[in-house]
Amino acid sequence: MLSIVIPIYNEEGLIDDLLDRTVSALEAFTSDYEILIVDDGSKDHSLQYLLSRQNKNHKIKVLSLSKNFGHQAAFTAGLEHASGEIIGMMDGDLQDPPELFSEMYRKITEEDYDIISGTRTGRKGSSSRNFYTFLFHLFFRNIAVIHNMKNTGNFSMMKREAVTALLSMKEKVRYLPGLRSFIGFKQGSVEFVRDERSEGEPKMSLSKLFILAADAIFAFSRFPIKFCLYLGLIGTFVFMCAGVYVLIAKIFGFAVIGWSSTLLSIYFLGSIQLVSLGVVGEYVYRIYKESQNRPVYFVKKFYDGNSKK
Ligand code: UDP
Ligand code: MG
Repeated sequence: MLSIVIPIYNEEGLIDDLLDRTVSALEAFTSDYEILIVDDGSKDHSLQYLLSRQNKNHKIKVLSLSKNFGHQAAFTAGLEHASGEIIGMMDGDLQDPPELFSEMYRKITEEDYDIISGTRTGRKGSSSRNFYTFLFHLFFRNIAVIHNMKNTGNFSMMKREAVTALLSMKEKVRYLPGLRSFIGFKQGSVEFVRDERSEGEPKMSLSKLFILAADAIFAFSRFPIKFCLYLGLIGTFVFMCAGVYVLIAKIFGFAVIGWSSTLLSIYFLGSIQLVSLGVVGEYVYRIYKESQNRPVYFVKKFYDGNSKK
C-alpha cells in the first residue's frame, strides 16, 4: 500500500481541490493507497470539510492533532500513523504537484530506490519569500554536514525501511529534509518547478520560516559555534596588533592618546562576547528542549475510517 501524508493548517479553501487532484493523480497508477491528512489544529472548517470528504472516500484518513504543533511535527505525526509500505509526503497547498507521485513511485518500485525527493528547478511567482528560501538553500548547502540536499524540501517518497530509520531519530527539533538526507539509503530525485500556492496566504508565517531555517542550521552544521570561534580569533588578532601599538607608544613616549581607541575596544570585545553568549545560549536552549523530552505532538483523534465520528 502507498500512503500519502499531507499536513493541513487552516486550508478550508483548498481542501476539495487538493483531494480531487491527489486522488486522481494516485488512481492513475494504483488503487491501493491511503491519503493521510494531518489536521494541525486548524481553527477554520478544515476538519469538518476533511471528514465530509472522508465519508465519501474511505481511503482518506484524518489525524487530528490537539493543537497547532507546526508543519514538521505534523509531518512526523503523519509518518508515525501511516500504514503503507511506501510513503509519500507533500505540502497541502498544491505547491508540489501530486501528479509527480507516479514517477516517484515508479522509481521506487522499478529502479529500486529507497528515497526519492522532489528537487525544485525553479519557483513560479516572485515573492520575497522565494528569495529568502533561495538564500537559505544557498547558505545551507555550503555549511551543512549533509551534502545531497540541493533545493529539496518535504516533497518526497520513501520505502518503509527509510521511514522507520527516519522516525528512529527522536530529536525534538526536527528538520525532516535534513534527517531524510542524513539516513543514507539509495536516494534519487525527480525534478519539478514549484508552483505558487493555489489559494490563500502561506500558513508558515515568516517567523516560523526563519525558525525552521535556524533549526536546520543548528541541527546540521557547526556554523553558529564556528562563527563565534572565528569572531573571537579575529578579535584576538586585532587586539594583539593594538597591543603591540600600545607598547610601542609607551616606549616612545606618545602614550596618552585617545579615549576613542579604548572605547572602540570595549565595544568590539563587548559585542563579540554578546554574540557568542547568544549563540551558546541557543545551544543551551536546544539541549534543554531535547532533555525535556516532550512529545512532538498530541493526537486528539484518528479518523482512520473504522471509527465513527
Ligand atoms: N502547515 C501546518 N502547520 C503549520 C503551518 C503550515 O500543517 O503550523 C501546513 C500548511 O497547511 C501547508 C504546509 O504545511 O499544507 C506548508 O505550509 P506553507 O505553504 O504555509 O509553507 P511554505 O510553502 O511557505 O513552506
Ligand atoms: Mg506553501
